[in-house]
Amino acid sequence: MAEPRVPGSDDDRRLELPCGESLDPHDIDLGTYEYRCTCGESHAVVQDPHPPSRFFPESLVAVLQETIETDDEFEQFGTPHLMGIVLEEFPEKVVVHDAAEDGAVGYAMVWITDFDARRLHEIVVELVVELMEHAISHAEDDDAVSEFEAQMLEFDVGEFVEQYRAQRDFESEHDAAL
Ligand SMILES: [Zn+2]
Repeated sequence: MAEPRVPGSDDDRRLELPCGESLDPHDIDLGTYEYRCTCGESHAVVQDPHPPSRFFPESLVAVLQETIETDDEFEQFGTPHLMGIVLEEFPEKVVVHDAAEDGAVGYAMVWITDFDARRLHEIVVELVVELMEHAISHAEDDDAVSEFEAQMLEFDVGEFVEQYRAQRDFESEHDAAL
């Protein structure tokens, strides 16, 4: 028996990627963190149910949730905000797909970047460091500001990402927040 045809459903089956290739958003499941594309590159895949601790520890997530006010439909700072910052910084390198109306997938939003998952991880960490620098520069406490700046001088994004990714097994289905 033929499926009922829904207007626009063909579009829902095809998401164009920054590299010019396309994929079917229905092929993305919750465990997809990276997509090996027919263009020969790998592209990072981020979905709204992925916690921000995909990128950094829960302790830092908690600090961000404390310090960053959100004025949208999301209750607290989370993955959609992180990807919003990435999208703002690299509008041509990120595509976003809204699947909120699509009951056939396990996510409401998916972002796919031209970068691979590791490069995206570095970019997210860099942008969050900038965000925190900005937030802390408004702090009244000069000691806190200089302490933070001193810590950041020693902070190596590449090394952090390397260690964090090694700690968390992204190939495993049992990946859990630390
Ligand atoms: Zn591609």
